Amino acid sequence: MNFDIQKYSHVKTPFYWYDLDLLENTLKQVKDESKRYGYHVHYAVKANANERILQLIRSYGFGADCVSGNEVQASINAGFESKKVVFAGVGKSDDEIRLGLQNDIFCFNVESIPELQVLNELAGEMEKQAAVALRINPNVNASTHHYITTGLEENKFGINMWEMEDVLQALENLPNVKLIGLHFHIGSQITDLQSFKGLCVRVNEIQQWFFARHIIVDHLNMGGGLGINYTDPEKELIPDFASYFQVFHDFLAVRPKQTVHFELGRALVAQCGNLITKVLYIKKGVQTNFAIVDAGMTELIRPALYQAVHKIENLTSIMPEAKYDVVGPICESSDFFAKARMLPETQRGDFLAIRSAGAYGQVMSSEYNLRTKAVAYYSK
Ligand SMILES: *Cc1c(COP(=O)(O)O)cnc(C)c1O
Repeated sequence: MNFDIQKYSHVKTPFYWYDLDLLENTLKQVKDESKRYGYHVHYAVKANANERILQLIRSYGFGADCVSGNEVQASINAGFESKKVVFAGVGKSDDEIRLGLQNDIFCFNVESIPELQVLNELAGEMEKQAAVALRINPNVNASTHHYITTGLEENKFGINMWEMEDVLQALENLPNVKLIGLHFHIGSQITDLQSFKGLCVRVNEIQQWFFARHIIVDHLNMGGGLGINYTDPEKELIPDFASYFQVFHDFLAVRPKQTVHFELGRALVAQCGNLITKVLYIKKGVQTNFAIVDAGMTELIRPALYQAVHKIENLTSIMPEAKYDVVGPICESSDFFAKARMLPETQRGDFLAIRSAGAYGQVMSSEYNLRTKAVAYYSK
Protein backbone atom coordinates (compact mmCIF):
# COMPACT_ATOMS: atom_id res chain seq x y z
CA MET A 1 0.00 0.00 0.00
CA ASN A 2 1.35 3.30 -1.19
CA PHE A 3 0.17 5.38 1.78
CA ASP A 4 2.45 8.02 3.36
CA ILE A 5 1.46 7.90 7.00
CA GLN A 6 3.64 10.92 7.95
CA LYS A 7 1.64 13.12 5.63
CA TYR A 8 -1.61 12.24 7.41
CA SER A 9 -0.39 11.99 11.02
CA HIS A 10 -2.28 15.13 12.07
CA VAL A 11 -5.41 14.54 10.02
CA LYS A 12 -8.62 13.74 11.89
CA THR A 13 -9.44 10.03 11.77
CA PRO A 14 -11.23 7.99 10.52
CA PHE A 15 -10.97 8.90 6.86
CA TYR A 16 -11.02 7.24 3.47
CA TRP A 17 -7.86 7.25 1.40
CA TYR A 18 -8.01 6.48 -2.32
CA ASP A 19 -5.04 5.42 -4.43
CA LEU A 20 -5.89 7.03 -7.76
CA ASP A 21 -2.83 5.55 -9.51
CA LEU A 22 -4.15 2.09 -8.75
CA LEU A 23 -7.61 3.14 -9.93
CA GLU A 24 -6.17 4.41 -13.23
CA ASN A 25 -4.16 1.22 -13.77
CA THR A 26 -7.31 -0.78 -13.12
CA LEU A 27 -9.33 1.33 -15.55
CA LYS A 28 -6.65 0.91 -18.24
CA GLN A 29 -6.81 -2.86 -17.85
CA VAL A 30 -10.60 -2.95 -18.09
CA LYS A 31 -10.54 -0.72 -21.11
CA ASP A 32 -7.93 -2.78 -22.95
CA GLU A 33 -9.45 -6.16 -22.11
CA SER A 34 -13.03 -5.13 -22.99
CA LYS A 35 -11.98 -3.37 -26.20
CA ARG A 36 -10.46 -6.63 -27.44
CA TYR A 37 -14.01 -7.92 -28.04
CA GLY A 38 -15.80 -4.62 -28.61
CA TYR A 39 -17.57 -4.88 -25.25
CA HIS A 40 -19.12 -1.81 -23.59
CA VAL A 41 -18.54 -1.22 -19.88
CA HIS A 42 -20.80 0.87 -17.66
CA TYR A 43 -19.53 1.68 -14.18
CA ALA A 44 -22.02 0.70 -11.44
CA VAL A 45 -22.16 4.06 -9.67
CA LYS A 46 -23.65 2.60 -6.49
CA ALA A 47 -20.25 1.06 -5.61
CA ASN A 48 -18.72 4.50 -5.08
CA ALA A 49 -20.26 7.81 -6.16
CA ASN A 50 -17.40 10.14 -5.16
CA GLU A 51 -17.16 12.99 -7.64
CA ARG A 52 -13.39 12.57 -8.14
CA ILE A 53 -13.81 8.88 -8.81
CA LEU A 54 -16.79 9.36 -11.12
CA GLN A 55 -14.89 11.95 -13.15
CA LEU A 56 -11.83 9.74 -13.47
CA ILE A 57 -13.90 6.77 -14.59
CA ARG A 58 -15.79 8.95 -17.06
CA SER A 59 -12.48 10.21 -18.50
CA TYR A 60 -11.69 6.64 -19.59
CA GLY A 61 -14.83 6.60 -21.72
CA PHE A 62 -16.99 4.24 -19.67
CA GLY A 63 -20.75 4.59 -19.32
CA ALA A 64 -22.69 4.75 -16.03
CA ASP A 65 -25.05 2.17 -14.56
CA CYS A 66 -27.40 3.91 -12.12
CA VAL A 67 -29.96 2.63 -9.64
CA SER A 68 -31.57 5.91 -8.53
CA GLY A 69 -32.50 9.29 -9.97
CA ASN A 70 -29.78 10.94 -7.91
CA GLU A 71 -27.21 8.54 -9.39
CA VAL A 72 -28.42 9.46 -12.88
CA GLN A 73 -28.02 13.14 -11.97
CA ALA A 74 -24.59 12.61 -10.34
CA SER A 75 -23.37 10.78 -13.45
CA ILE A 76 -24.54 13.54 -15.77
CA ASN A 77 -22.99 16.16 -13.45
CA ALA A 78 -19.70 14.24 -13.58
CA GLY A 79 -19.79 14.47 -17.37
CA PHE A 80 -21.05 11.04 -18.43
CA GLU A 81 -22.84 11.26 -21.77
CA SER A 82 -26.54 10.63 -21.19
CA LYS A 83 -26.44 8.22 -24.14
CA LYS A 84 -24.15 6.05 -22.02
CA VAL A 85 -26.35 6.09 -18.91
CA VAL A 86 -28.38 3.03 -17.96
CA PHE A 87 -31.05 3.17 -15.24
CA ALA A 88 -31.80 -0.05 -13.35
CA GLY A 89 -33.66 -0.80 -10.12
CA VAL A 90 -36.73 -2.67 -9.00
CA GLY A 91 -38.54 0.41 -7.63
CA LYS A 92 -38.08 3.51 -9.77
CA SER A 93 -40.35 6.40 -8.73
CA ASP A 94 -42.26 8.50 -11.27
CA ASP A 95 -39.94 11.47 -10.71
CA GLU A 96 -36.89 9.30 -11.22
CA ILE A 97 -38.31 7.91 -14.46
CA ARG A 98 -39.10 11.43 -15.67
CA LEU A 99 -35.51 12.48 -14.95
CA GLY A 100 -34.22 9.62 -17.08
CA LEU A 101 -36.62 10.49 -19.89
CA GLN A 102 -35.73 14.19 -19.77
CA ASN A 103 -32.07 13.28 -20.22
CA ASP A 104 -32.77 10.79 -23.04
CA ILE A 105 -30.69 8.11 -21.34
CA PHE A 106 -29.52 5.05 -23.26
CA CYS A 107 -31.77 2.51 -21.57
CA PHE A 108 -34.13 1.72 -18.71
CA ASN A 109 -33.64 -1.77 -17.32
CA VAL A 110 -37.20 -2.76 -16.50
CA GLU A 111 -38.12 -5.38 -13.93
CA SER A 112 -41.92 -5.84 -14.13
CA ILE A 113 -45.04 -5.34 -16.29
CA PRO A 114 -46.44 -2.57 -14.04
CA GLU A 115 -43.14 -0.69 -14.43
CA LEU A 116 -43.40 -1.01 -18.24
CA GLN A 117 -46.92 0.43 -18.08
CA VAL A 118 -45.86 3.41 -15.94
CA LEU A 119 -42.85 4.05 -18.15
CA ASN A 120 -45.10 3.99 -21.23
CA GLU A 121 -47.51 6.43 -19.64
CA LEU A 122 -44.84 8.91 -18.50
CA ALA A 123 -42.97 8.71 -21.82
CA GLY A 124 -46.30 9.34 -23.61
CA GLU A 125 -46.94 12.47 -21.53
CA MET A 126 -43.49 13.75 -22.52
CA GLU A 127 -43.99 12.68 -26.16
CA LYS A 128 -40.97 10.41 -25.99
CA GLN A 129 -40.21 6.77 -26.54
CA ALA A 130 -38.29 5.05 -23.76
CA ALA A 131 -35.65 2.49 -24.70
CA VAL A 132 -35.93 -0.53 -22.43
CA ALA A 133 -34.07 -3.72 -21.65
CA LEU A 134 -35.94 -6.44 -19.81
CA ARG A 135 -34.13 -7.54 -16.68
CA ILE A 136 -34.54 -11.27 -16.78
CA ASN A 137 -34.04 -13.52 -13.81
CA PRO A 138 -31.89 -16.29 -15.31
CA ASN A 139 -32.22 -18.54 -12.25
CA VAL A 140 -28.45 -19.03 -12.08
CA ASN A 141 -26.73 -19.51 -8.74
CA ALA A 142 -23.79 -17.16 -8.30
CA SER A 143 -22.20 -19.02 -5.35
CA THR A 144 -21.81 -15.90 -3.26
CA HIS A 145 -23.17 -14.66 0.08
CA HIS A 146 -26.97 -15.09 0.02
CA TYR A 147 -27.53 -11.38 0.74
CA ILE A 148 -25.77 -10.45 -2.51
CA THR A 149 -27.12 -13.13 -4.83
CA THR A 150 -29.77 -11.70 -7.13
CA GLY A 151 -30.34 -14.14 -10.00
CA LEU A 152 -32.61 -16.70 -8.34
CA GLU A 153 -36.39 -16.96 -8.61
CA GLU A 154 -36.71 -16.26 -4.87
CA ASN A 155 -35.02 -12.82 -5.25
CA LYS A 156 -37.06 -9.66 -5.79
CA PHE A 157 -35.08 -8.77 -8.92
CA GLY A 158 -35.94 -9.32 -12.56
CA ILE A 159 -38.69 -10.94 -14.60
CA ASN A 160 -38.98 -14.74 -14.59
CA MET A 161 -39.13 -16.58 -17.91
CA TRP A 162 -42.55 -18.03 -17.07
CA GLU A 163 -43.92 -14.46 -17.13
CA MET A 164 -42.30 -13.56 -20.45
CA GLU A 165 -45.26 -14.34 -22.78
CA ASP A 166 -47.32 -11.86 -20.76
CA VAL A 167 -44.55 -9.27 -20.98
CA LEU A 168 -44.38 -9.54 -24.79
CA GLN A 169 -48.15 -9.28 -24.96
CA ALA A 170 -48.06 -6.17 -22.78
CA LEU A 171 -45.33 -4.60 -24.94
CA GLU A 172 -47.58 -4.82 -28.01
CA ASN A 173 -49.90 -2.27 -26.44
CA LEU A 174 -47.22 0.09 -25.15
CA PRO A 175 -46.24 2.38 -28.05
CA ASN A 176 -44.00 4.64 -25.97
CA VAL A 177 -41.55 1.94 -24.95
CA LYS A 178 -39.18 0.22 -27.30
CA LEU A 179 -37.51 -3.08 -26.50
CA ILE A 180 -33.80 -2.79 -27.25
CA GLY A 181 -32.12 -5.25 -24.92
CA LEU A 182 -32.02 -8.07 -22.42
CA HIS A 183 -30.40 -7.51 -19.04
CA PHE A 184 -29.01 -9.96 -16.50
CA HIS A 185 -27.20 -9.57 -13.18
CA ILE A 186 -26.71 -12.62 -11.00
CA GLY A 187 -25.03 -11.15 -7.95
CA SER A 188 -21.90 -9.60 -6.55
CA GLN A 189 -18.42 -10.63 -5.33
CA ILE A 190 -18.39 -13.61 -7.70
CA THR A 191 -14.90 -15.11 -7.83
CA ASP A 192 -15.69 -18.42 -9.52
CA LEU A 193 -15.79 -17.69 -13.26
CA GLN A 194 -17.83 -20.88 -13.73
CA SER A 195 -20.84 -18.87 -12.52
CA PHE A 196 -20.43 -16.51 -15.48
CA LYS A 197 -20.09 -19.47 -17.84
CA GLY A 198 -23.37 -20.75 -16.37
CA LEU A 199 -24.92 -17.35 -17.05
CA CYS A 200 -23.76 -17.41 -20.70
CA VAL A 201 -25.23 -20.86 -21.28
CA ARG A 202 -28.54 -19.77 -19.78
CA VAL A 203 -28.61 -16.52 -21.78
CA ASN A 204 -28.05 -18.52 -24.98
CA GLU A 205 -31.14 -20.60 -24.13
CA ILE A 206 -33.15 -17.49 -23.32
CA GLN A 207 -32.11 -15.88 -26.61
CA GLN A 208 -33.34 -19.03 -28.43
CA TRP A 209 -36.71 -18.53 -26.77
CA PHE A 210 -36.83 -14.95 -28.12
CA PHE A 211 -35.55 -15.97 -31.59
CA ALA A 212 -38.39 -18.51 -31.80
CA ARG A 213 -40.73 -15.52 -31.43
CA HIS A 214 -38.82 -13.52 -34.08
CA ILE A 215 -37.23 -11.18 -31.56
CA ILE A 216 -33.56 -10.27 -31.82
CA VAL A 217 -32.60 -7.44 -29.48
CA ASP A 218 -29.75 -5.05 -30.24
CA HIS A 219 -28.09 -5.23 -26.82
CA LEU A 220 -27.18 -7.89 -24.27
CA ASN A 221 -26.33 -6.54 -20.83
CA MET A 222 -24.58 -9.18 -18.75
CA GLY A 223 -24.50 -7.13 -15.51
CA GLY A 224 -21.56 -6.94 -13.12
CA GLY A 225 -20.50 -8.97 -10.14
CA LEU A 226 -16.84 -9.78 -10.75
CA GLY A 227 -15.28 -10.25 -7.30
CA ILE A 228 -12.00 -9.12 -5.82
CA ASN A 229 -9.42 -10.57 -3.41
CA TYR A 230 -10.31 -9.29 0.07
CA THR A 231 -8.09 -11.63 2.10
CA ASP A 232 -4.88 -10.88 0.21
CA PRO A 233 -5.32 -7.67 -1.80
CA GLU A 234 -1.62 -7.28 -2.68
CA LYS A 235 -1.76 -10.57 -4.52
CA GLU A 236 -4.42 -9.29 -6.88
CA LEU A 237 -4.68 -5.50 -6.76
CA ILE A 238 -6.20 -5.57 -10.25
CA PRO A 239 -8.80 -8.29 -10.89
CA ASP A 240 -8.22 -10.71 -13.76
CA PHE A 241 -10.32 -8.88 -16.36
CA ALA A 242 -8.71 -10.82 -19.22
CA SER A 243 -10.11 -14.14 -17.97
CA TYR A 244 -13.44 -12.57 -17.08
CA PHE A 245 -14.14 -11.17 -20.56
CA GLN A 246 -12.68 -14.30 -22.15
CA VAL A 247 -15.47 -16.38 -20.56
CA PHE A 248 -18.11 -14.28 -22.29
CA HIS A 249 -16.19 -14.34 -25.55
CA ASP A 250 -15.97 -18.14 -25.37
CA PHE A 251 -19.46 -19.01 -24.18
CA LEU A 252 -21.92 -16.24 -25.06
CA ALA A 253 -23.60 -16.60 -28.46
CA VAL A 254 -23.82 -13.10 -29.94
CA ARG A 255 -25.72 -12.25 -33.12
CA PRO A 256 -23.82 -10.20 -35.76
CA LYS A 257 -25.29 -6.81 -34.88
CA GLN A 258 -25.71 -7.32 -31.14
CA THR A 259 -23.55 -5.35 -28.71
CA VAL A 260 -22.54 -6.72 -25.32
CA HIS A 261 -22.55 -4.57 -22.17
CA PHE A 262 -21.23 -5.01 -18.64
CA GLU A 263 -21.91 -3.16 -15.40
CA LEU A 264 -18.86 -3.51 -13.18
CA GLY A 265 -18.77 -1.79 -9.82
CA ARG A 266 -16.70 -3.47 -7.15
CA ALA A 267 -14.04 -4.80 -9.53
CA LEU A 268 -13.17 -1.26 -10.64
CA VAL A 269 -13.01 0.57 -7.31
CA ALA A 270 -12.73 -1.79 -4.32
CA GLN A 271 -8.95 -2.13 -4.15
CA CYS A 272 -8.16 1.57 -4.52
CA GLY A 273 -9.98 2.54 -1.29
CA ASN A 274 -8.82 2.17 2.30
CA LEU A 275 -10.42 3.19 5.56
CA ILE A 276 -7.76 4.68 7.84
CA THR A 277 -8.55 4.55 11.55
CA LYS A 278 -6.74 5.14 14.85
CA VAL A 279 -6.72 2.79 17.83
CA LEU A 280 -8.46 4.37 20.82
CA TYR A 281 -8.09 1.68 23.47
CA ILE A 282 -6.86 -1.86 23.98
CA LYS A 283 -9.19 -3.79 26.24
CA LYS A 284 -8.35 -7.21 27.63
CA GLY A 285 -10.88 -9.90 26.83
CA VAL A 286 -11.15 -13.56 27.88
CA GLN A 287 -10.11 -15.26 24.63
CA THR A 288 -8.71 -12.28 22.78
CA ASN A 289 -7.94 -8.59 23.21
CA PHE A 290 -10.19 -5.91 21.83
CA ALA A 291 -8.62 -3.20 19.71
CA ILE A 292 -11.24 -0.47 19.88
CA VAL A 293 -10.80 1.86 16.92
CA ASP A 294 -12.34 5.20 16.01
CA ALA A 295 -14.02 3.90 12.83
CA GLY A 296 -17.14 1.79 13.01
CA MET A 297 -19.97 0.30 11.02
CA THR A 298 -21.04 3.88 10.29
CA GLU A 299 -17.98 4.21 8.02
CA LEU A 300 -17.82 0.63 6.70
CA ILE A 301 -20.85 -1.58 7.24
CA ARG A 302 -19.82 -4.55 5.07
CA PRO A 303 -18.61 -6.82 7.90
CA ALA A 304 -21.82 -6.21 9.88
CA LEU A 305 -24.11 -6.43 6.84
CA TYR A 306 -22.62 -9.30 4.82
CA GLN A 307 -20.14 -10.94 7.20
CA ALA A 308 -17.51 -9.53 4.84
CA VAL A 309 -13.79 -10.02 5.47
CA HIS A 310 -11.36 -7.12 5.06
CA LYS A 311 -7.61 -7.30 5.50
CA ILE A 312 -6.42 -5.02 8.32
CA GLU A 313 -2.89 -3.63 8.51
CA ASN A 314 -1.27 -1.92 11.44
CA LEU A 315 0.63 0.91 9.78
CA THR A 316 2.48 1.90 12.96
CA SER A 317 3.59 -1.22 14.82
CA ILE A 318 6.33 -3.66 13.83
CA MET A 319 6.04 -5.74 17.06
CA PRO A 320 5.42 -9.52 17.16
CA GLU A 321 1.85 -10.55 16.45
CA ALA A 322 -0.99 -11.06 18.89
CA LYS A 323 -4.68 -11.85 18.50
CA TYR A 324 -7.31 -9.07 18.39
CA ASP A 325 -10.96 -8.44 17.83
CA VAL A 326 -10.95 -5.14 15.96
CA VAL A 327 -14.15 -3.35 16.95
CA GLY A 328 -15.73 0.07 16.48
CA PRO A 329 -17.32 2.50 18.95
CA ILE A 330 -20.94 2.08 17.80
CA CYS A 331 -23.48 0.67 20.24
CA GLU A 332 -24.12 -2.57 18.33
CA SER A 333 -22.49 -5.97 18.85
CA SER A 334 -22.24 -6.37 15.08
CA ASP A 335 -19.96 -3.32 14.98
CA PHE A 336 -16.67 -5.11 14.36
CA PHE A 337 -14.14 -5.28 11.53
CA ALA A 338 -12.46 -8.58 12.42
CA LYS A 339 -12.55 -11.29 15.08
CA ALA A 340 -9.51 -13.17 16.40
CA ARG A 341 -7.25 -11.50 13.84
CA MET A 342 -3.45 -11.71 14.17
CA LEU A 343 -1.90 -8.23 14.11
CA PRO A 344 1.42 -6.79 15.25
CA GLU A 345 1.10 -5.86 18.92
CA THR A 346 -1.21 -2.88 18.86
CA GLN A 347 -1.44 0.16 21.13
CA ARG A 348 -3.48 3.30 21.57
CA GLY A 349 -2.62 5.77 18.80
CA ASP A 350 -1.62 3.19 16.16
CA PHE A 351 -2.94 3.75 12.66
CA LEU A 352 -4.77 0.85 11.04
CA ALA A 353 -5.72 0.51 7.38
CA ILE A 354 -8.84 -1.46 6.56
CA ARG A 355 -8.08 -2.53 3.03
CA SER A 356 -10.23 -3.04 -0.09
CA ALA A 357 -12.85 -0.56 1.12
CA GLY A 358 -13.31 1.39 -2.11
CA ALA A 359 -16.58 -0.32 -3.08
CA TYR A 360 -19.72 -0.27 -0.93
CA GLY A 361 -17.76 1.52 1.80
CA GLN A 362 -18.06 5.27 1.90
CA VAL A 363 -21.34 5.26 -0.10
CA MET A 364 -23.00 3.17 2.59
CA SER A 365 -21.80 5.34 5.48
CA SER A 366 -24.38 6.73 7.86
CA GLU A 367 -24.73 9.19 10.72
CA TYR A 368 -26.04 6.61 13.18
CA ASN A 369 -25.09 7.58 16.76
CA LEU A 370 -24.92 11.11 15.29
CA ARG A 371 -21.50 10.36 13.90
CA THR A 372 -19.77 12.84 11.61
CA LYS A 373 -19.32 11.43 8.11
CA ALA A 374 -15.72 10.54 7.27
CA VAL A 375 -14.06 12.59 4.54
CA ALA A 376 -11.92 11.32 1.67
CA TYR A 377 -8.32 12.04 0.68
CA TYR A 378 -6.69 11.08 -2.58
CA SER A 379 -3.18 10.03 -3.59
CA LYS A 380 -2.92 12.96 -5.97
C1 LIG B 1 -24.92 -3.74 -8.00
C2 LIG B 1 -25.16 -3.95 -9.42
C3 LIG B 1 -24.10 -4.03 -10.30
C4 LIG B 1 -22.65 -3.97 -9.87
O1 LIG B 1 -22.27 -5.06 -9.11
P1 LIG B 1 -20.74 -5.28 -8.72
O2 LIG B 1 -20.75 -6.56 -7.97
O3 LIG B 1 -20.31 -4.14 -7.88
O4 LIG B 1 -19.95 -5.38 -9.98
C5 LIG B 1 -24.39 -4.20 -11.64
N1 LIG B 1 -25.66 -4.28 -12.09
C6 LIG B 1 -26.71 -4.20 -11.26
C7 LIG B 1 -28.08 -4.27 -11.81
C8 LIG B 1 -26.50 -4.04 -9.90
O5 LIG B 1 -27.55 -3.98 -9.08
